[in-house]
Amino acid sequence: SMVTAKPHAALLASPGMGHLIPTVELGKRLLTHHGFDVTIFVVTTGSSTTTSQILQQTSNLSSLNIVVLPPIDFSSKPGPKPSLGEQVVVAIIESLPLLHSSIMSMKLRPSTLIVDIFGTCAFPMAREFGMSTYVFFATSAWFSAVTIYVPVIDKKMEERHANNHEPLFIPGCESVRFEDTLEPFLSVVGPVYEGYLKAAQDIISSDGILINTWQDLEPASTKAVRELSILGRFTKGPVYPVGPLVRNIEPRQEHKAVLRWLDGQPADSVIYVSFGSGGTMSEAQMKELALGLELSQQRFVWVVRPPMEDETSGAFFDVAKGGDIAPEYLPDGFLERTKETGLVVPLWAPQAEILGHPSTGGFVTHCGWNSVLESILNVVPMVAWPLYAEQKMNASLLEEQLRVAVRAKVAEEGGRVVSKEEIAMLVRRVMVDEEGVTMRKKLKEMKQSGHVALSNLGSSYESLCQMTKLCELHVQGSKAKAQG
Ligand code: UDP
Repeated sequence: SMVTAKPHAALLASPGMGHLIPTVELGKRLLTHHGFDVTIFVVTTGSSTTTSQILQQTSNLSSLNIVVLPPIDFSSKPGPKPSLGEQVVVAIIESLPLLHSSIMSMKLRPSTLIVDIFGTCAFPMAREFGMSTYVFFATSAWFSAVTIYVPVIDKKMEERHANNHEPLFIPGCESVRFEDTLEPFLSVVGPVYEGYLKAAQDIISSDGILINTWQDLEPASTKAVRELSILGRFTKGPVYPVGPLVRNIEPRQEHKAVLRWLDGQPADSVIYVSFGSGGTMSEAQMKELALGLELSQQRFVWVVRPPMEDETSGAFFDVAKGGDIAPEYLPDGFLERTKETGLVVPLWAPQAEILGHPSTGGFVTHCGWNSVLESILNVVPMVAWPLYAEQKMNASLLEEQLRVAVRAKVAEEGGRVVSKEEIAMLVRRVMVDEEGVTMRKKLKEMKQSGHVALSNLGSSYESLCQMTKLCELHVQGSKAKAQG
């Protein structure tokens, strides 16, 4: 008789909440709906309270095995502080020996390794252990298509894109405007581009690719990525849209101050302002944002971090380290003047709960993909304010293709900031104007289609069933090989 081969997936989460949160959600999904055993390996860069908080929230699933690898410390290293992307990659490379010994010591070794787009350097080890390899894009099908296509893009077109600012053409997808492009395409020579190209080559060599999106959200781009994979044209394995995977709102155990405050506000009356786990801005921009919120005359919840000139400096910020809002970087009298209508939350807020709260009616967001999905699934229209990585593409997708966001424009004069008048106008378009009502109608339909995708026979559910089948075959194949 046939013994069913239960696959065991190891998921490697690179540092940063934006990577850890969707990886945990994918792990839970494989465990609860597709019969996998699941072990999640978490790469960390410091004793982050936020990491353990997130992990605590997931520990209600006792069968989910979570291994937090010892932190990689950058503060002691000589030389200039590496960029955000470099830190993520270096942390993973330095964690590989820890991952290796951790897997060696497991009684039941995993049969499949799933990494995010930064984790492909773990593939040689996975293959050495006889594991099949998958990549999980915790972002849009559009960005995924660009990445999958990079190794075959005509070099001349890339040069025209970088030098003459012509759009980057991706078969079956919207072209990428130069204003929205990714850092590697700013110059097609040099280490940033080379690193991206190498990652793309590794990604397409995997046994399969998973994307945290769904067919009806991005019909053209999901079709395009599938076609890039047909007959092994560009990718070795299949490409599966498997989303939307986002955190469930936990039943309220502790009454958080921000949620209590929201309880007292009218429905859809509060705009939530947050730039993800890593976004920071200059002091001038923060002051302008504060004045813009005031000018909009709308209620708000604003997650603030100390200002920094570099937009990504907040990443890996340890929420345990700072608590108080240093009022000197907010305009004089701002907290006093807005104390009835606004709430400023230092560093980190319970975003899933805030977006799910009935009083929240809009979201000023940096367009990190997890934030985007959380906003869509809670029917919250957005003010798109992208900062780095693929966030400008996400903003363009939200504003122009899905039409559920208005986008902030940086004024070239006046120190390259988004002005307070612009901020107030954008907030009012979403919160007060008819436009916001139309967006909410669209979002309701999108939310519905997201639920359908994940339900039985839905497109994302079916994708994960197919992937599961491949992983089971892999286990059977390995067993047969072992028996000679
Ligand atoms: N998040 C949160 N509280 C915060 C900031 C972020 O819970 O104060 C969560 C947010 O809900 C999302 C993730 O952290 O799930 C951030 O991921 P995203 O892709 O939006 O942006 P990134 O942080 O990767 O730039």
